[in-house]
Amino acid sequence: MYKVMAVNAGSSSLKYKLYEMPEEKVLCSGNVEKIGLPDAFFGIKFDGKAEKVQTAIPDHAVGVKLVLEALTKDGIVKDLSEIKAVGHRVVQGGKYFSHSVDFDEDAEAKITKLIPLDPLHAPAHLVGFHAFKEALPNAIAIAVFDTAYHQTMEAEDYVYPIPYEMTTKYDCRRYGAHGTSHDYLVHTAIKNYFGGKEKGTRILSCHIGSGSSLCAAMDGKCVATTMGLTPLGGVMMGTRTGDIDPSVMDYLCTCTGKSVDEMYDIFNKKSGLYGVGGIASGDTRDIEEQALKGNEQCLLAANLFARRVADFIGSYYVRMGGADLIIFSAGIGENSAWFRKLILERVQDALGLKIDYELNEKVRGVETVLSLPESKIKVIVLPTDEEVMIARDCAKRYENGHC
Ligand code: AMP
Repeated sequence: MYKVMAVNAGSSSLKYKLYEMPEEKVLCSGNVEKIGLPDAFFGIKFDGKAEKVQTAIPDHAVGVKLVLEALTKDGIVKDLSEIKAVGHRVVQGGKYFSHSVDFDEDAEAKITKLIPLDPLHAPAHLVGFHAFKEALPNAIAIAVFDTAYHQTMEAEDYVYPIPYEMTTKYDCRRYGAHGTSHDYLVHTAIKNYFGGKEKGTRILSCHIGSGSSLCAAMDGKCVATTMGLTPLGGVMMGTRTGDIDPSVMDYLCTCTGKSVDEMYDIFNKKSGLYGVGGIASGDTRDIEEQALKGNEQCLLAANLFARRVADFIGSYYVRMGGADLIIFSAGIGENSAWFRKLILERVQDALGLKIDYELNEKVRGVETVLSLPESKIKVIVLPTDEEVMIARDCAKRYENGHC
């Protein structure tokens, strides 16, 4: 028995989950939030208890120190040397990474090169890595990439129709994201519904939460995904546009006098359900509540979201020459019966789906088959678990020497 830590470092936050392996038992989880701000705090959950401490956390290093102190103080670990590996979630792996790797000098240099592609997260991942390396110098560090699972796409699924030298010179192409989640969902589904046999499976995975993406997987491998060069592309999301005509950027900059940077920020943070609904919330619970009270803008936002997801389901059905299983996951997919219904109603006739809508109403966060036996495609709700994938890669690296 040994312990591994899954880490997700953002620019002002750090989420963590400590596992006992190989049992995959969660020992504790928590977060450090608002790093560098006056109201910084750190939280830890273990044994059914939750603690939250507001204290000065000027940087990630202090945040990591607080987390590790809490682990020993609360008796979760006797000695920090029990933690054998730390797995860091990295959003953008670009063309370099098709699987998890040791977070060594070479990985660091490549992630640094990728900063222009992900200026929001990449520097934070590096800061998080250094903070843990300093605090736990003997633990193995690995990097787990959100883009890695999508590296099996073929050129016609990832090349943009821009001048080709721009694709090659600047590595400007579709990379996708949420790959760790889609990998988990596809392989859990293969284990639970196809007897563990990848060959011949055609799975459509819908990770729909505040960030949303769809993935088409054949034989367990990604063939297409909706997010693009960055997580801004694909389906409409909580606050992001998803795919839109690129001319919208130029046109709105001209109309509003805003800069490209300002407009880009609006596309990322003020669009999607938030932007269309007009109630200063991109949360589906608020959108649903207002829509059901008769707010037409919120109803439009919800219908638009469902339409975008439905359109991609149709597109990926064609891409795979059919589908055997559709998965709903993440915050909306796992919890919102109303949004699932809005989407399913838009695809059911074309795809021959027969759904138990009474059951759909009851399902929240629990693996469930929503389709009836006569449905041409099985439809399921499957909670995602990105952290356990990171923990598994840590365990593989610790036990076998490679991820
Ligand atoms: P995620 O990014 O996967 O954590 O998803 C978060 C989003 O899921 C929230 O912003 C909501 O839009 C949605 N969500 C979470 N819980 C529920 C719920 N119980 N009912 C409806 N939507 C939910």
